[in-house]
Amino acid sequence: MTRPSAPRGTRDIVDLDVRTFRRLEGCAGACFEMYGYEEIRTPTFESADLFSRAVGDTTDIVEKEMYLFEDRGGRPLALRPEGTAGVVRAYLEHGWDQSAPVKKLWYGGPMFRAERPQAGRYREFWQIGGESFGNPSPQADAETLLLVRDILTSSGLTNGVRFLVNSIGCAVCRPAYREALKAYLTERKSDLCENCVRRLERNPLRALDCKGDGPKFTEAPLMADHLCDACRAHRDEVYSLLKATPFSFEESPRLVRGLDYYTRTVFEVTAPGQGSQDAIGAGGRYDGLVKLLGGPDTPAVGFALGVDRVARALQAQGFSAPPPKKIFIAQAGVGTSVTAFTLAQKLRTFVKSGRMPAIEIGASTKSLKAQFRAADGWGADWLVLVGEEELKKGAVVLKNLRSHSQEEIPLVEVVDRLLTSIGKTN
Ligand SMILES: [Zn+2]
Ligand SMILES: [Zn+2]
Repeated sequence: MTRPSAPRGTRDIVDLDVRTFRRLEGCAGACFEMYGYEEIRTPTFESADLFSRAVGDTTDIVEKEMYLFEDRGGRPLALRPEGTAGVVRAYLEHGWDQSAPVKKLWYGGPMFRAERPQAGRYREFWQIGGESFGNPSPQADAETLLLVRDILTSSGLTNGVRFLVNSIGCAVCRPAYREALKAYLTERKSDLCENCVRRLERNPLRALDCKGDGPKFTEAPLMADHLCDACRAHRDEVYSLLKATPFSFEESPRLVRGLDYYTRTVFEVTAPGQGSQDAIGAGGRYDGLVKLLGGPDTPAVGFALGVDRVARALQAQGFSAPPPKKIFIAQAGVGTSVTAFTLAQKLRTFVKSGRMPAIEIGASTKSLKAQFRAADGWGADWLVLVGEEELKKGAVVLKNLRSHSQEEIPLVEVVDRLLTSIGKTN
């Protein structure tokens, strides 16, 4: 029989990766709370049309990357390719647009896209994101950027993080810009890739962030030169608020989002250590999305961070989260079972500030040799041997598996001794 393997483009998150994820998730949760967000957990699958409406059916995501399936009732569903659509759906479904004029929600979890797997890109990947509804003020945009910065900083990612910020206008000023850009690109149609030609009518802005074509059009008209007065004032205030905080960012006039419901502020976060993909997150204002999904006109701003990518960036700059110290209790001989078992529980219930050790007990049905092998395989730092002969004297053997020293000590002292030693090495 062949052993089973994880599906292509997926992997198990283990060891340092899972500890890095947990660190980031913990820091993010604390920051979100500090900024007034509540956690929401939406389903990992939704109606397929939610995403074609919310993400846009001219995007790569909807055109070719969604995991689509039908349930047994023939309903078309999709594994979520991103988190915002589900949160907006929940916002409307719970009637928060009526009951909570301002609502801030955050989420974390796996997303699914059938992309070509490569370094740092997975078909199941993890995101943490936040969506703030109901606040049209430039302060909400600036606050969102600061929140992202605080999440990254508190999780330990400080070196080389860049925030690229732009405004992509609104329904008043963008149509004229779109026409100007379309005219410019149409003249250069022969230089465009297949995708950009196909999108030229509905989504010309995407050519600016097309990897192949974007860099060719250095003279392309920019949104910054076409903003209406209201958008210009909004952008200027976002920038003033950020500069007053202070917060370091780069104005990035070629940064775009291809979809109509994005308005005004857009941003991208990058960090070294990603190989060809240095984006670790993105966000912006999307005042048009709630209405697009059937709700009232509702201003909103949000972002998502790629957990896999932030974790890579953290590890690239030397982040290490050591596992807890490990104590293994081995047992051998008649009458040792109860003592070994209660010792494990005593150690586990010993409340102490700082990081608690992990405690494992060998299988009482196995030989001492097999238990020692289990202790090694588990990576134990200490081993307590509860043996029949020693126990008759009220003693156990304490082995330090790192220094390979061992001694016989009274059973009543073992908890104190272990916790003191661990306190010293932590
Ligand atoms: Zn405008
Ligand atoms: Zn292109």
